[in-house]
Amino acid sequence: MSPIRVLVAEKCGFCPGVRNAIHTAEEVLAQTSSQEQVYCLGPIIHNEDVVERLASAGLRTVESVDAIDSGTVLIRSHGVAPSELDRLRGRGLRIVDATCVLVKRVQQIAKQLEEEGYEVVIIGEENHPEVQGVMGCVKNVVVVAGEEDLHKLPSDGKLGIVCQTTQSPEHLGRMLGAIGQGGFRELKVINTLCKEAIKRQESATALCKKVDVMFVLGGLHSANTRRLAELCKNHNRETFHLQNWDELDKKVLIGKNVAGVTAGASTPNWVIDEFVKHLEAFDEKR
Ligand code: SF4
Repeated sequence: MSPIRVLVAEKCGFCPGVRNAIHTAEEVLAQTSSQEQVYCLGPIIHNEDVVERLASAGLRTVESVDAIDSGTVLIRSHGVAPSELDRLRGRGLRIVDATCVLVKRVQQIAKQLEEEGYEVVIIGEENHPEVQGVMGCVKNVVVVAGEEDLHKLPSDGKLGIVCQTTQSPEHLGRMLGAIGQGGFRELKVINTLCKEAIKRQESATALCKKVDVMFVLGGLHSANTRRLAELCKNHNRETFHLQNWDELDKKVLIGKNVAGVTAGASTPNWVIDEFVKHLEAFDEKR
C-alpha cells in the first residue's frame, strides 16, 4: 500500500498552444530534407528534455535572427514582434508560425487600442518573450509587473490595458484596482488572460487545500510554472517548485499523508507520471 496518497490536479501540463508548437516542430522536421536546417527562435518551451529531444531530431535553437542565414524558422507559441518577422522575411527564410492564437489576439488588441488613441499598458513581465512580442506591435507602451511599477504610467490620459496571457485573475484584479485610483480620464480593459492557464491555476489552488504538501513541476524559467507555484504557496506553505524527482529533498515527505501534484503548461506528461510513480513508491522508512 502506498504510504503517501497522491492527488494530481485535474488540469495540468501541456496547454493547447504548447502542444501545437511541438506538433508543428515535429511535422516540419519530418517534412524537411537533411540538407535544410530548421531553427527555432528561442527554446520552443521551457523544458530541457523536450528541447534536447527536438534538437536530436534536427531543431536548432538560436537566440537571434542574426544567427540564421538560410532554411526554415519556427516561431514558438510566445510569438515575436512584427519587426522580427520582417527581418526573417528579409533574409528570405521560410517561416513556420506556431504563435498561440491567444497570444496573436493580444498582439492584435494592443495594435487596435493604439489606433483608437489609447496609451497601451501591458500588465506582465517586461522580459518575457510574449510581452516583448506584444510590445513590438505598438509604438508606445508601458509594461507594469506589479504595483511598484505604476509610477511608469503617464500622469494623465486614456489607458488601453491588456494582460500577459498567463497572469492570474487575482493579480489582474489587484492591478486594475490600483490603476483605477490613478484618476485617469478613461480606462479600456480587454481581458486577454488565457482560460487554459486559469483552469490550471484554479485546479492547483483547489488541490492545495486538500494536501499536506504540494509539488509544482516545470522549468524554473517557465513564467507560468513560477506563477502556479506562487499561487500554490499562497494556499499551502508546503509548496515546492521542482523540475523532476531527482531535485526533491526527500525529507519534505516525512510525516506527510497526502501529496498534491500539478505542472506548468510546458511540462510533458511523462515528467508528471514519473514523479507520481516515485511519490507513490516512496517509503520513508527506507
Ligand atoms: S498558456 Fe494559453 S496563451 Fe499561453 S501558449 Fe498556452 S494556450 Fe496559449
